[in-house]
Amino acid sequence: MKRVRRGLPFGFGATGAVVAAGLVATAIVATLTGLGAERLFLREQAARARDALDFHAVSLEGFLDKYRILPPLIARHPDVVAHFDAGTEKDGPAALRIAVTATAMTGADEVLFIDTDGTVLVASKPVADKNLANAPYFRAAMEGRLGRFLSFDAATERGSYLFAAPVRKDDAVIGVVVAKVSLEDVEQAWALSKDPVVATDLSGRIVLSNREDWRGRSLFGARGRALARATADAAPVVRSPKSHDGEFAFVNLPDEVGGGAHRYLEETAFLPLYDWTLRVYSDTALARAQMSNLVLTVLLAGLIATAGAGYLVDRRGRLSRQMRRERAAALRLERRVRDRTRELTLANARLASEVREREATEEELRRTQSELVQAAKLAALGQMSAALSHEFNQPLAAIRSYADNAALLIERDRKPEAAGNLSRIAALVDRMAGLSRHLKTFARKPEATTRPISVAPALSETLMLLGPRMRKAGVQVDVVQEAGDVVVDAGQVRLEQVLMNIVGNALDAVAGRADPMVRVDISKDSCDGIIAVSDNGPGISEADLAHIFDPFFTTKDVGEGLGLGLSIAYKIIQDFRGMIVAEARPEGGSVFTIRVPLSEPVRSAAE
Ligand code: ADP
Repeated sequence: MKRVRRGLPFGFGATGAVVAAGLVATAIVATLTGLGAERLFLREQAARARDALDFHAVSLEGFLDKYRILPPLIARHPDVVAHFDAGTEKDGPAALRIAVTATAMTGADEVLFIDTDGTVLVASKPVADKNLANAPYFRAAMEGRLGRFLSFDAATERGSYLFAAPVRKDDAVIGVVVAKVSLEDVEQAWALSKDPVVATDLSGRIVLSNREDWRGRSLFGARGRALARATADAAPVVRSPKSHDGEFAFVNLPDEVGGGAHRYLEETAFLPLYDWTLRVYSDTALARAQMSNLVLTVLLAGLIATAGAGYLVDRRGRLSRQMRRERAAALRLERRVRDRTRELTLANARLASEVREREATEEELRRTQSELVQAAKLAALGQMSAALSHEFNQPLAAIRSYADNAALLIERDRKPEAAGNLSRIAALVDRMAGLSRHLKTFARKPEATTRPISVAPALSETLMLLGPRMRKAGVQVDVVQEAGDVVVDAGQVRLEQVLMNIVGNALDAVAGRADPMVRVDISKDSCDGIIAVSDNGPGISEADLAHIFDPFFTTKDVGEGLGLGLSIAYKIIQDFRGMIVAEARPEGGSVFTIRVPLSEPVRSAAE
């Protein structure tokens, strides 16, 4: 049977559809997740950076605030004022002691006393530059303000902060006190932050950073350096070059500060009190990595879910296909059983109708048979009546005429002739009595009793009775008897009656022949005595053979035969539990074979 595969063409089944849908859905979800997640992570990162920046700004301000008031305090000290006022030995040991003590007490890195012309009078540590007349913080202090300066030592690559305060006497500035603070501690605190944190001066130079190699570099490359040079102290706040993505501003740092392909989120805080810009950078690669991790996870989950769904759908499809196949097989089987049942039912019905027909036919047959039997009985009765009336009417008519004649003869006194007539009447009466006797035999009930009868004597008795007929026909009956007497279980008179009929028929058959022959063979086998009567008469036709034992069957002329002899003989032999068979002789004529069981004692003696 050709299988038709249902479903989508090109073998793209339900599983394929589910897998394709799953893949598309996974791709869409992954893309949306990527877009959304990156934004989310960036937002988180920005918030974190802002928090860090706030923290760093506050702690830096706190740190510097402590030192901001140090130079004014020292400048007001009477010893210091007195020292600058003395005008002599401004760089003497007393001044140095004060400077060293102040350094040790405040934790500042260095304390300097500077003359009004910018000459460094005393330094708690030896200094390279002895004249600071051009230093902006010195000038600010000389103007009566608090001088502030973020300095960067290129040699040590360390940043430090300088505060300068004027020493006054009677509103006149007589000197300047400078305190230098190391920013190493600040950097150490920043080291804990993994995002780059930088503090830039007005030119964009990195003065402080938690990245060792970033210090001293310009955050804005050549452009920044040029700006720094051009604007000197009055530089505006230099802004980072930024690219914007709606919500976020991304910064590409120059190569010298670990830039390259990295894009950073920048958070900036300007500390106006110190002319600083504090910046915290957050690498967007992190958000991207987080985003790609999430996307990968989503993709993986999507793929696993797709594979799972595909497997389930495939399994379901296979199961349902198998169920369909099984259902189809069951239906086929059911149909076959139904067809077969229908056939059987039909055959059954046919058989039943045949049986009914047969029964009807049988019934018909039985009816016809009984009708036939009835008809046959009636026919037999008619035949018999006809034969009997014929048989009896003739002698009765003869008797009547003989009686009339006898009466006339007696009247005329012709007694001897009358006696002759009477004796003829007597003979006719005898014949009629004989006929009647025959009929009686035929009608009588079978005699149950049998006794041992010697066949030969019975036969001689019969032949003696037949003597006149034999003589009349000129036939001599030959008797051939095997050695020993044959004694059968029979009745004397009845056996003689049978022999009389059979031998009589044989005599009738050969009557008129030139070479008449009638022979009786007496023999026996282990069970029966056998009497075979053969003649060379005309024989019996094949058609007649079937009927010769029927009552009233005769081929003889009316008045010569009654057709009862053989049927009576048949009945008698049957009573002896023997059998009688008529056959044609091969050499012409017929042979009647009578078999009668041997008498019991004889049989046992023979055995
Ligand atoms: P019936 O002698 O009165 O005719 P049976 O019953 O004795 O009656 O015989 C029936 C018929 O059988 C006879 O009419 C005759 O045709 C035939 N038949 C009997 N014996 C012989 C025989 N030996 N040869 C030829 N036909 C015979």
